[in-house]
Amino acid sequence: MSQTVAALPAPKPRGRLFFANPGPTNIPDSVLQAVAHSTVDFMSADFLTLYDACMAGVKRVLKTEQHVFFYTASGHGAWEAALVNVLSPGDTILIIETGYFSLGWAEMAEALGVKVETVSADWRTGVDTAAVEAALAADTDHRIKAVGVVHNETATGVALPIPDVRAALDATGHPALLMADTISSLACFDFRMDEWGCDVVVGGSQKGLMLPTGMSFTGVSEKALAAHQHSTMPKHYMNWTAMIGRRHKSFIGTVPVNLFFGLAESLRLLEEEGLDHVFARHHRLAEATRAAVRTWTGNNGPELFCRNPARLSDSVTAILMPQGHNADALRKICHERFNLSLGGGLGPLGGKVFRIGHMGDLNEPMILGTLATVELALGLAGVPHGKGGVDSAIAALAAS
Ligand SMILES: *Cc1c(COP(=O)(O)O)cnc(C)c1O
Repeated sequence: MSQTVAALPAPKPRGRLFFANPGPTNIPDSVLQAVAHSTVDFMSADFLTLYDACMAGVKRVLKTEQHVFFYTASGHGAWEAALVNVLSPGDTILIIETGYFSLGWAEMAEALGVKVETVSADWRTGVDTAAVEAALAADTDHRIKAVGVVHNETATGVALPIPDVRAALDATGHPALLMADTISSLACFDFRMDEWGCDVVVGGSQKGLMLPTGMSFTGVSEKALAAHQHSTMPKHYMNWTAMIGRRHKSFIGTVPVNLFFGLAESLRLLEEEGLDHVFARHHRLAEATRAAVRTWTGNNGPELFCRNPARLSDSVTAILMPQGHNADALRKICHERFNLSLGGGLGPLGGKVFRIGHMGDLNEPMILGTLATVELALGLAGVPHGKGGVDSAIAALAAS
């Protein structure tokens, strides 16, 4: 019987694609339905009402009463908007190394003619904030115009305490702008733009906000807007001055109305649950994931990539494979046999790390299904691991 089945061509996987990537993330059905709206005029009164409510809602999520500019672009577009609107060619930015995404932002700054200084760091623990303070203290003539930090390094699962970076600026009396990338932390765990003294905050649609890819935004402080007046970097489509003069205070071209129908619904979902409950849910599911991984680590199995217990990310867990075992082979089994999509290792972590996203529209059965499938695949791939990871995840959920 089993031989007959094996002789048939491999069946197409059935059931819903189980999507456990750390971005883009699962889109709630009600958001999908909201996005599937017929076209409207972006200057019509009804749309403007919805648009203004979205702008106010995004400010509540960012915890800011300052400015927000939206872009029809993925997160990279908002990264670029942050740089070109406040810096000038030849300015220096201090980028705090976190991993693949901090390197990407630094590379973009360099391509735009900005000088990049880096505070280097071990990707598994994250930067020593004393080193950030030392770099700022050494910059006595204030060449550094901005400090760029990725709040949640999606490639490593290490989150950085933004208030500590603010404290380093304050302790040295350094006037540089604080730029924070919150693309994979916003609406997943705590972020407070105004209270934490952030000047330019980069966010995107397709992670914690549970929307399709294609829209990003920047929160902008009064201080950053003042710096913008002196920026000589070439810019047009993302020029804040041009945007401020428009009715939407964003968008030089057509407004992506369907993304706003979706955004209105995702904001409604976030506020119905309550942001603090959203954060608590992310923490609970992250703890369950980590409990499973710690059990797998027994018997020389895979381990948490993040070695700093105070900086474990609540939106993504990066898992380091044991020597000699390829993360992509494991991901292939998960995808092809079980219809489970996992995140891969980025940059130098390719093949060494796989990532479980636990951000956005996610609950306990989804995380348990993912963990059970990974445990099944570890066995099938012959990867050594401690048994009972799923039991540990269940115990963690039962206790929380
Ligand atoms: C996803 C991500 C980006 C890039 O965003 P895109 O939407 O893919 O352009 C930047 N920074 C972080 C931290 C991210 O997670």
